[in-house]
Amino acid sequence: MPFPQQLIDGYRAFLVSRLRHEQDRYQELSQSGQSPQVMVVACCDSRCSPEVIFDARPGELFVARNISGLVPPYTPDGAQRAVSASLEFAVEALKVKHIVVLGHAQCGGIRAFAEEAAPLSPGDFIGHWMALIAPAAKAVGPRGDMPFDDYLTKLEQASVMQTLANLMTFPSVRLLTERGKLALHGAYFGVATGQLSVWDGKQFAPVAADEHARVLANPRF
Ligand SMILES: [Zn+2]
Repeated sequence: MPFPQQLIDGYRAFLVSRLRHEQDRYQELSQSGQSPQVMVVACCDSRCSPEVIFDARPGELFVARNISGLVPPYTPDGAQRAVSASLEFAVEALKVKHIVVLGHAQCGGIRAFAEEAAPLSPGDFIGHWMALIAPAAKAVGPRGDMPFDDYLTKLEQASVMQTLANLMTFPSVRLLTERGKLALHGAYFGVATGQLSVWDGKQFAPVAADEHARVLANPRF
C-alpha cells in the first residue's frame, strides 16, 4: 500500500504556505532548540488537534496526546510510562509555564466508559486506560434522569478536573505550582460549534464568546 496521497497533498500545501512563511523560524528553532511555554495534554481524537485549535506556530506547544487526554497519578514504579515521561520532560527540562488539559465533546473514550462498552480485544488497553476516570464518574454521581449527552458532557469535563488533580500528585508539578512558576488550566472544546471553554474556578466559561458568535452568524459555507 503506498504512502497516503492525502498526506503528500497536505505536505505540498505545507510547503507553499506554512514553510514558505516560517522557514526562518524552523531554521532558528533547529539551532536554538525548542522552548515552548505551554504543554497541552489532549485526546488523540482527530477533530481536536491543539495546534489547529490554538493556531500554534512551530515550537509553541509541547503536546502529549492519548485516549481522552488523561494523566495517570504519579506512580514511580519503573514501568514505561509515556505520559509521565512527557510531563517530566516538559516540566523539568523545558520548564513550561503552563499545562493545559484539553477535553472535548463527543469523546469516544469517555463514551466507552459511560456505556461500559465491551472490550475491543482480550488485551483491552482502552478499558484499563479509561478506568482512570472512575473517580471523575464518582464525582459526577449517578446519571439518573439526565439525558445521556448531558451526562457525557459532565463526565468529559469532570475528567479534565480529575486529570488536573492527578497532575498535582507529581512532586515537581506540585512544587512548581506552589511556587507560582507553573500554572495548570482546564479547557474544553465543543467539536460541533468550535467553542472553546476554560475552567474559571467555578465553571467552564466560553472564551472569545462574542467573536465566536460572530463567526457562527456568518458561516463561510
Ligand atoms: Zn476524545
